[in-house]
Amino acid sequence: MEYSDVEGEIISDDSGSSLTEDSYSDDEEYHYDTVCAICDNGGELTCCEGKCCRLFHATPYSEGADESNCESLCLNPKVMEDLQPFKCENCEYSLHQCFVCAELGSSGKSSITKVFRCSSETCLHYYHPECVAKLLHQNDNTEQQTLKEKIAAWEPFICPAHKCAVCNQTENENVEDLQFAICRRCPNSYHRKCLPREIVFDHETDDYDAEIRAWNRLMTKSRALIYCLEHEIDPLLATPSRPVIARNVLNRMREQIQRKSQTYDPSLPVFILLRLGF
Ligand SMILES: [Zn+2]
Ligand SMILES: [Zn+2]
Ligand SMILES: [Zn+2]
Ligand SMILES: [Zn+2]
Ligand SMILES: [Zn+2]
Ligand SMILES: [Zn+2]
Repeated sequence: MEYSDVEGEIISDDSGSSLTEDSYSDDEEYHYDTVCAICDNGGELTCCEGKCCRLFHATPYSEGADESNCESLCLNPKVMEDLQPFKCENCEYSLHQCFVCAELGSSGKSSITKVFRCSSETCLHYYHPECVAKLLHQNDNTEQQTLKEKIAAWEPFICPAHKCAVCNQTENENVEDLQFAICRRCPNSYHRKCLPREIVFDHETDDYDAEIRAWNRLMTKSRALIYCLEHEIDPLLATPSRPVIARNVLNRMREQIQRKSQTYDPSLPVFILLRLGF
């Protein structure tokens, strides 16, 4: 069995998008994130040089991490110096989380692959084939099944985040109404003009008790960062709960297998368990 780090084929962004390939080359940073993958705040961030390309607060004392009470990667500063370039645990072990169900799955290109990355080059999300197929073909079981099989066979796919959840059209960053507001917790995106009224921007209210769900200037280009109405805001965090698993990833994977199956042999390494189909 082969374990290689080769990515699934990355194809250019959303057909029908007004973005041309030239506009990407203007700004190489375009497809990288701008906030911490754990707490969604900015500040002093460390970039994973593995395939996930995510940013993290390295320690609870990194600029921006204290403000958002970020769990952070809790890296020792000395270790970080030795670790340059830094690779996160998820990329180290090829275990990434599905952006729908938040379960960890193997993402290495092999016969045990469980989560697959969206083929849009601007997208950092991984999915189980069945989780994303359900969203892309909500009312058609046959289409769902077909797409699921295609994704599992490494055919490229574009996740739902690249079309507006209301009008099903793509983004146009040059027209303010058609710029995207992107949910950080699920693949729901909206044009600014299609955004539900209940989603309030930080600059729209002075009410201290108002539930803020949208921010400009946190993401690249013209996009807004939002938490859509499907997620309850935790009053202590001021964001929805933070599902990202970026520390002790192997142990968390083992816990997940244990939760789902009582019949596994706990002495076996995680990768053998995965290979056995757990
Ligand atoms: Zn953080
Ligand atoms: Zn990574
Ligand atoms: Zn899933
Ligand atoms: Zn995507
Ligand atoms: Zn729309
Ligand atoms: Zn959402």
